[in-house]
Amino acid sequence: MVRRIHSLVAASLLVAIAAFASGLRGDSKPLRDGGIVVSKNQAKGEPGGKYIDAHVHVWTPDTKRYPLAPGFKAEDMRPASFTPEELFKHCRPAGVGRINLIQMSFYGFDNSYMLDMIAKYPDVFVGTAVIDPQGKDPAAEMKRLAGKGVRAFRIHPRLSKEPIARWLQGEGYKKMFAAGARNRQAMACLIGPDALPELDRMCQEYPDTPVIIDHLARIGADGPIRAADVDRLCALARHKKVLVKVGAFYALGKKKAPYTDLAPLIKKVVAAYGPKRCMWESDCPFQVQGDHTYQASVDLVLRRLDFLSADDREWLLRKTAESFFFAK
Ligand SMILES: [Zn+2]
Repeated sequence: MVRRIHSLVAASLLVAIAAFASGLRGDSKPLRDGGIVVSKNQAKGEPGGKYIDAHVHVWTPDTKRYPLAPGFKAEDMRPASFTPEELFKHCRPAGVGRINLIQMSFYGFDNSYMLDMIAKYPDVFVGTAVIDPQGKDPAAEMKRLAGKGVRAFRIHPRLSKEPIARWLQGEGYKKMFAAGARNRQAMACLIGPDALPELDRMCQEYPDTPVIIDHLARIGADGPIRAADVDRLCALARHKKVLVKVGAFYALGKKKAPYTDLAPLIKKVVAAYGPKRCMWESDCPFQVQGDHTYQASVDLVLRRLDFLSADDREWLLRKTAESFFFAK
């Protein structure tokens, strides 16, 4: 059970238990590659696909070369290994060719493994790093990482060491939000609904900073999908630079494929933000544990949500992530 909810509680787990990070036509034809630029990898005809997964963690059992952060042990890595090559076995058959990697909590602020994998597969990966908001010069670090394919930074209340009501009040976050606007790098927020009011304040103060809310703000992570939480998430759509990741289905609501109990939540979020500000994510490897499969996650967006048009599906499964993460 721990691993099923892993990513959603990664922040608290850090300390608590080391167990664990256009103008399109509205037609109804099947999804096609509508002239969207594909990666060189795909152009060469190598395995891949046109969809983009906005959220995957990779790690290696080679803890000698890539040491774990203090407080983490090799046994905490469940599964023991999830390398890019292992990921490709899941995502390529489902038509996913490009991925935004998310720095894994095991590695703390050492983004080396993720950066090395981006360098190894530059046509496939970009990344979301974790840096210390209380570090000496987070803005300089953000700029340095921009040159290595880092498009976003994961932030969460646990890192700030402040109460949830003022989790973004530290000086470091001011620097990070300002640098995010300058570099077009997003603040990727691993948060629950209780962190939204403070995020709303920062979005008002830094309206040009791209912000991404992970995992539908973890609404339904404890089971019930509360209308008040959905309203709070949807209200944040008034800030035009806020995007939402629609995924981690294995961990929300009934937590059971085909995940259609999440349809009303997703419908409201897509209506509030518009499909061009919503991007699908799997949250692998956690989406491929137990009975959960990669294809089931793709299929909820690709085939099941009746309220989505063919164009909406294209935005969620590719174009939103493409325009933010893979813009040339
Ligand atoms: Zn995750």
